[in-house]
Amino acid sequence: MDRKIWLSSPHMSGREQKYIEEAFATNWIAPLGPNVNAFEAGLEAYLGDGVYVAALSSGTAAIHLSLVLLGVEAGDEVLCQSMTFSASANPIVYQGATPVFVDSEPDSWNISPELLETAIKDRIKKGNKPKAIIAVHLYGMPYDVDAVHEVAKAYDIPVVEDSAEALGSRFRDKKCGVFGNFSVLSFNGNKIITTSGGGALVSHSDELKHKAIFLSTQARDESPAYLHSHIGYNYRMSNIVAGIGRGQLEVLDDRVKQRRSNHEFYKQALESDSISFLEEPENCFSNRWLSCVLTKSFEMREDIRTHFESKNIECRPLWKPMHQQPVFKDAPKYLNGVSDRLFEKGLCLPSGSNLTEDELDRVVQTFKSYFI
Ligand SMILES: *Cc1c(COP(=O)(O)O)cnc(C)c1O
Repeated sequence: MDRKIWLSSPHMSGREQKYIEEAFATNWIAPLGPNVNAFEAGLEAYLGDGVYVAALSSGTAAIHLSLVLLGVEAGDEVLCQSMTFSASANPIVYQGATPVFVDSEPDSWNISPELLETAIKDRIKKGNKPKAIIAVHLYGMPYDVDAVHEVAKAYDIPVVEDSAEALGSRFRDKKCGVFGNFSVLSFNGNKIITTSGGGALVSHSDELKHKAIFLSTQARDESPAYLHSHIGYNYRMSNIVAGIGRGQLEVLDDRVKQRRSNHEFYKQALESDSISFLEEPENCFSNRWLSCVLTKSFEMREDIRTHFESKNIECRPLWKPMHQQPVFKDAPKYLNGVSDRLFEKGLCLPSGSNLTEDELDRVVQTFKSYFI
């Protein structure tokens, strides 16, 4: 059997261990310390636009805290892109609120601004104005920031920008991760840079950053005793993990280049009448976190996928939309068929920044051999 090719595996720069050793040497083995502060400062500088970053234990924790900070409570409704990973939606349920799913538009595979407006109008008519909108830059491709935020503004509903897959992507001249009332980053093991596990909450004031840090460290009021006037969480990033993040941030732009070059390589080799790739819409620059293809049919998608599996190459269908998930079967939804079609026909190819030329060739040859 040929060596396993992974979908998206961690790619260290070699500079991470220096920061971890510093943490050991100074005994900062805690969910605070110099690496955490420096990683936050590095992310703030990278994203630009004057944002404030709180480093947390995961992207999911960041989505949860954003909903807490927006005052989402039991009985509320939160609009959420249906075509996404479950972590975008689960925190809505943590708050006792109800997710309301909105389908995608074909140009970016992300939340459809038209359908979003339809959903908002209908929820308001039904007497429950949504408390927030969770929009996602799926696979690194920016959602239509102009249109989505225009709708959000018109109805005065805050946006949580799920940028977990889109660090290094841009809309117009701004980095993804600066557009939402809150924005979310993830450093899980499969993301474009990783801390093994981790995330961050991006906001637009020092006060919100410190509220997030307060909530993420058990909400201890300033008092010599353990005094609590809020429910807290244990969501802060550790100083060890932040050391990995510092090393990874130094090579982020190289990682984006490599992933984009993987995508270009696949497109050159595989694009045909029956295989298509998602183009960047106007104003969008994607980090191409995962390279995805659309096949002609569900059967073809499955044949190719199992063919890859038999050759020890990991590949995956696109995310199964949330409105199709058993756990969300009762959630209200606004559909147009786009995400169902994407799920039927779409496949993610191995996309790691550490894939060798030989491995990329093997993927392409395996793909082509399916057609022969
Ligand atoms: C990975 C991911 C998350 C969650 O991030 P974690 O750090 O794994 O908790 C949220 N949303 C999307 C779209 C993701 O891909």
